[in-house]
Order: sequence, then C-alpha cells, then structure tokens
Amino acid sequence: MEYRELRIDTASPNPPLASILLLYTGGTMGMVKDDKGILVPFNFEHILEYIPSLKTFELEIKVIAFEKPIDSSNVSPDHWSIMGHIIKDHAEFDGFVILHGTDTMAYTASALSYMLVGLNKPVILTGAQLPITVPRTDARENLITAIEIASAKENGKPIVSEVCIYFDSVLLRGNRTRKVESMHFDAFESENYPPLAEAGIVIDYNKKVMLQMNKEKSLTFNHLFDERVVILKIFPGINKHIVHRILSCKEVKGIVLETYGSGNAPTASWFIEEIKQAIDNEVLILNVSQCLGGEVMQGRYETSKQLEEVGVLSGGEITTEAAITKLMFLLSNCKTYSELKQKIVLPLCGEIN
Ligand code: ASP
Repeated sequence: MEYRELRIDTASPNPPLASILLLYTGGTMGMVKDDKGILVPFNFEHILEYIPSLKTFELEIKVIAFEKPIDSSNVSPDHWSIMGHIIKDHAEFDGFVILHGTDTMAYTASALSYMLVGLNKPVILTGAQLPITVPRTDARENLITAIEIASAKENGKPIVSEVCIYFDSVLLRGNRTRKVESMHFDAFESENYPPLAEAGIVIDYNKKVMLQMNKEKSLTFNHLFDERVVILKIFPGINKHIVHRILSCKEVKGIVLETYGSGNAPTASWFIEEIKQAIDNEVLILNVSQCLGGEVMQGRYETSKQLEEVGVLSGGEITTEAAITKLMFLLSNCKTYSELKQKIVLPLCGEIN
C-alpha cells in the first residue's frame, strides 16, 4: 500500500500541546467534484485550505493518506490490518483520527478495537455525509471535533482511551455502533450503550461509561482476521436447501446467526438438525438479534431454547458488526475450538457487558 505523508505544525513556534496522527482512507468526506461533476478524492495536502480553523489548534498533526483513497464499501480485513499497523508504528502519538467512509465504519471500528487492546489512546473514526467542499458539509465539524477529542488530556493523560466513532455531535464506542441513516447527518447509533461524549458548546465527556486506561496492559497487537465466516439472517420462508448449502460448506468456520427478537428462530426440525450438524463439525454459531436494541436471551422462548440445546452461543447485546469482526479476529487468534467458544462470549473491549 502506498501512502502520502504530510506534517502540519499548527503550534509553531510554540511546542505543540499534543501530537495527532490523521489517517485519511477515503469516503465521501474527502471528495470533490471533477469537471464532469463526478465525486473524486481530493488531494489531502490541501486540507488547510478547506479547514483553515485547523490552524488554531496548537498541535503537531501528521497526515497519512492512502495514495488511492477508497470508498469504504471496498474495505477488507487487509485494510484493517494496514490501519492497525500504521497506528502501531506511530504508537508514540497522543491520539489518532481516522477519516473513513461511513458505510463500513462500524466494522472497521470494531476490528480496530480488538486489534488495539492495550493501546490506551484515543482512536477516533469519523467521516461525513457530504463532501468537505459542499457548503452545508458535516465534514468540517466532524473532523475538527474528532481532532479535539483525540488530543484532549486531563492531568497529562488522554480523556478517551478507546476506539470510537465521532459523528454528528456524539462520541460512541466504536464496537457498539451501527450505521442507521444514509440521508441525514445522524448516521450512527449505539442503541445498547450510552454516548461517551456529546459535543455542544463544550464537549461533555461521560467518563463513567468509558473504558478505563489500563497501564498494566500494553498493546497486544494481532492483525489477522479469518475470513471463513458468514452472516445468516433468518426470515420467514428461509429455504431448507440454501441453509443446508451454507451450513455444510467446508469453508465456513463461524456463523453469525441473525435471529428475531431476543434470539428466536424457527423450530422446524430440519433447521435445528442443520444447526446441530454444523456445530458437531466445529462451526461456531453465535446468536445475534436483528433488533437494534435489547439482547439475545436464549431459553426465554421455546424458539430459542432449542438453539441453546444444540450448542448455539448467545451474542448477548453485541451488534452484527462487532460480532462478525470478533469472530474473524478470534478464529485467527485462538488455537482450539474450545478456546474460541470460551472467548467469543467474553468481552474483549467493551463490545458486550
Ligand atoms: N460510500 C461512502 C463510503 O462509505 C459513503 C460515505 O463515505 O459516507 O465510503
């Protein structure tokens, strides 16, 4: 992967108050219209022209821009790994801001949260619904506040020390978010976890709900993700033969089963038998709800009791985005099936309670 690098010292001649690594990966935020009216990525070296108020921060900002910025629909685990490596290689910086398309931002935030356990620094992902060049853009506010949060310190320590998404005035835990809106500015929600901060006239941090900095723990950097996973969403009329093909596919090692309500699925014997067969073949099946809020409680209804009995594990209140990335991460980092089964139901970094 090719990058461009740029240093902006907005504090000079004074020493900077903090150092920030700004990683530009692509997405709507950094687009401009070319002469044919098509949105294309703009040259990030001109960032100060678009956001002159950046100069008012007393910061050292290092910008790393992907040579070929991408729409986040093209983001893959290789990109997560690249982003993780860039952060690890700049671990001495005080904070990190990642500019990313909104479409898959929740997946990237979840993946990074697992990779960067022990970093103890703010990693703030943000983006925009409108390009930075459009007068009504949300890009400016999102970027400026994300930088402010990434550089915020109290008694010399970062206020935030986890992977988050900042968007439309709220700071959310990254692995609790979902993209819920494609037209309005409030693109993200975290239904099962309160915001870590809200930006009004001041940035109001809710420190009680943040992950606490753990100095004992240093960065345990794992960057591999096993892609032999699938999300299977249940719906009325789900077809026996198709389910069979998916569950018996030799390539599949882990399944996020998106069920109804508090974890319910059809009780048809063919369905339960297919699930049981897959589990007997050491395919891990994690039950995640299709609902935005609430949690999976296997055994509450008859329609989830049988899943529990054949060995489906409960994802609790985990989002699909956090679940599939966790499964990919643990599949590649656990040595045995039983280790995987133990770890998938325990929190790695605040994705479940
Ligand atoms: N398709 C774009 C992306 O995710 C949308 C956005 O940036 O918001 O890269």
